[in-house]
Amino acid sequence: MMNEGVRPTDEQWAAIETNDKTYNERFLYGVHSTKICCKPSCPSRLPHREKVCIFHSLEEAMAQGFRPCKRCRPENVILPNDEWVALINAFLETHYMYDVTLDKLAARFHGSKFHLSRIYKEMTGETLTQHITQLRLTEAKRLLNNTTLRIHEIAARVGFHSSAYFVAVFKQYEQQTPKQYQLKARNKR
Ligand SMILES: [Zn+2]
Repeated sequence: MMNEGVRPTDEQWAAIETNDKTYNERFLYGVHSTKICCKPSCPSRLPHREKVCIFHSLEEAMAQGFRPCKRCRPENVILPNDEWVALINAFLETHYMYDVTLDKLAARFHGSKFHLSRIYKEMTGETLTQHITQLRLTEAKRLLNNTTLRIHEIAARVGFHSSAYFVAVFKQYEQQTPKQYQLKARNKR
């Protein structure tokens, strides 16, 4: 059976074409005709795009019969867990208001959902869901304090699907409803 593997996206292909080393920790690529696996920054001759497949780890590539390139040595690309978590956190800071799911994070940061959850919890002491919720609630409180936005508007703005869900989560973390929080904040002024 011929396994074509995962084809490069335009972004990945551009990184390969320009030997962009900032992509080295994001993916590796294999060349079907040579069965060699490289980092995006590899200075070797540019392969044909149709012959390229994308891997998220050298183990994955080797499991499919690829060998690490002697020139760019992809076996030396292992992003330490703390840097990985820092990348994820930086992404969440600017994306918590969108529909960030574990599936999407796993795809973006190249790990299985299970691995991602486990490492994240190990390194930070909280789950990804807790962290996302904290980011959302921090911004919600800021908006409750400083704006005249309605509860449903704030819910939508910080990434909750419904205001009922927002109220429930808020209550769980803050032991009061958003409305109560807002009233207290106003009375303090
Ligand atoms: Zn190489």
